[in-house]
Amino acid sequence: MSVDVNSAKVETCDLLVIGSGAGGLSAAVTAAFHGLKVIVVEKEPVFGGTTAWSGGWMWVPRNPLARRGGIDEDKEKIRTYLRAEIGNHYDSGRIEAFLEAGPHMVDFFERHTSLHFIDGNKMPDMHGKLPGAGVGGRSVCAAPFEAEQMGPLVDKLRPPLREISFFGMGIASGADLGHFMNAARSLDSFIHAGKRFAKHLLDLARHRRGMHLVNGNALAARLGKSAADLGVDIRVGSPAKRLLRENRAVSGAVVATPNGEVTIHARRGVVLACGGFPHDVARKRELFAHAPTGHEHWSAAPRTNTGDGLRLGEQVGGEVDASLAAPGAWAPVSLVPRRDGGVGHFPHLIERAKPGFIAVNARGQRFVNEANSYHDFVQGMIQAAEPGEEVACWGICNHHFIRRYGLGFVKPAPLPLFPHLRSGYLKRGRTLEELALACGIDPTGLARTVEGYNCHARLGEDPEFGRGSTPYNKVQGDARQQPNPCVASVERGPFYAVKMVPGSLGTFAGLKTDASARVLDAKEEAIAGLYAVGTDAASIMGGFYPAGGINLGPAMTFGYLAGRHAAGITEYEDAADAA
Ligand SMILES: Cc1cc2nc3c(=O)[nH]c(=O)nc-3n(C[C@H](O)[C@H](O)[C@H](O)COP(=O)(O)OP(=O)(O)OC[C@H]3O[C@@H](n4cnc5c(N)ncnc54)[C@H](O)[C@@H]3O)c2cc1C
Repeated sequence: MSVDVNSAKVETCDLLVIGSGAGGLSAAVTAAFHGLKVIVVEKEPVFGGTTAWSGGWMWVPRNPLARRGGIDEDKEKIRTYLRAEIGNHYDSGRIEAFLEAGPHMVDFFERHTSLHFIDGNKMPDMHGKLPGAGVGGRSVCAAPFEAEQMGPLVDKLRPPLREISFFGMGIASGADLGHFMNAARSLDSFIHAGKRFAKHLLDLARHRRGMHLVNGNALAARLGKSAADLGVDIRVGSPAKRLLRENRAVSGAVVATPNGEVTIHARRGVVLACGGFPHDVARKRELFAHAPTGHEHWSAAPRTNTGDGLRLGEQVGGEVDASLAAPGAWAPVSLVPRRDGGVGHFPHLIERAKPGFIAVNARGQRFVNEANSYHDFVQGMIQAAEPGEEVACWGICNHHFIRRYGLGFVKPAPLPLFPHLRSGYLKRGRTLEELALACGIDPTGLARTVEGYNCHARLGEDPEFGRGSTPYNKVQGDARQQPNPCVASVERGPFYAVKMVPGSLGTFAGLKTDASARVLDAKEEAIAGLYAVGTDAASIMGGFYPAGGINLGPAMTFGYLAGRHAAGITEYEDAADAA
């Protein structure tokens, strides 16, 4: 055994996991369940990573909850959709592994751990016009969770993303969100929102944080609790600094801790799960064409996800696959001034599909079906920018819309608009011309665009970009708006606008891995003892975004596969049909 003379303290485990998001914790829980001694080291003082800020949705076709709901799809239909979506980037080895292991993964966590799910049986894939696209049943989300069940571990859980929570309270997608949006219009919704907020205030007083956890925060919490129950040692404030090798195999890592460096030897290997490179300026400069200095990109992922996993992998011969169709999971972001002088990155995931919203560039032109996915929206924004023009756009709506649905960080009625107008986040104009001048948009271009749009919107149509033309668009719209849930005219001021810039939910480019999540070298050979999961591994979707949950579904599944591989498990114990 090699001993690092620079390290004061030496420890040994079976599996060392670097990073505590969905990928890392899935690997840790699986390996520990199969008897391995597992240590998870986390750079931040809290665990959970981007996962704890996420929607918590996992794309896992043919999952047990769908089957229980009567949705029994043929594997070939999923392959058809993915082939149509991914084209030349289709990696059949890893996709087959994902399709086979995904349902087993869900079954394993449901059966043996604190991770329980709710179904996505009504959630369609994003590109409904492609062959094989699903209209529901291909995703699951972590079920809400009461944090009291975690005991003292809750103090180490990353709180929800400030910009998309309400005074630190997470709001679950679906009925919960619907009630909050309707609080000013329906007594039932008002009571629901009031009760939730009163309980949250009580939690803040008692525990200094919200205790009713939803979405990705519930996912991270449930994974953390499952890990702790199985004896996994989760160490926060402990960034991995370099990997150890023994006879070419990776055999551990040197980790910085508040008490000095520790050398951790890992008999079965190391899992890289550091959450990709959304804030690694050098790699963004290299791979993001729209960010020539590396700074013209504002990810909503935690700012400490700085590409450590990719660098650690490269240092021992791992190869980064930068050939993906897009290197990041794009999402439009607006920049929210914080009271402390900082700037929050608000990802626009919800309101773009609601009726009465359009997005225009500085020339006042629309450029995309705004109701499409966040990824497609940013692709459109990047493609529409002329050489030398800032890649940015403005989300525009009228007073009725902003009070009904909110706009970005601005919440719907009854919450006030003035703090956002005062901070400069929100622009207002009594007329479209006044709004255009306040934003620096060409007023003539904007007037022409809105006139052309309104002419069709009054009939519920959008012939130019097809808002409301796919099941995904419709689900994101407002069913009460007919004939098209995504289309209403933009008239009768005052009008409002929020500026959006290119951002992301995380990254797609990453280390090349095989079907067992082992990192591959330049000869496409597995590096013994080294796994990469989650966003440290190149996305199996090849840089495309076929459905909500395509980050976390594969992160959980390949984490599960890495844990099984490290533990030497080959058979599935559950009854899920893998045929
Ligand atoms: C607002 C938002 C909503 C989203 N919603 C969804 C969704 O619903 N479905 C979906 O599929 N995707 C979603 N995503 C994307 C998804 O959350 C991420 O792709 C996913 O969580 C990444 O998981 P991970 O395990 O790779 O990394 P992370 O969850 O980011 O965890 C990585 C961890 O590694 C730690 N780390 C970094 N460097 C080191 C080091 N040197 N040593 C030790 N630890 C280190 C980090 O601090 C971090 O805690 C969303 C993202 C955002 C921002």
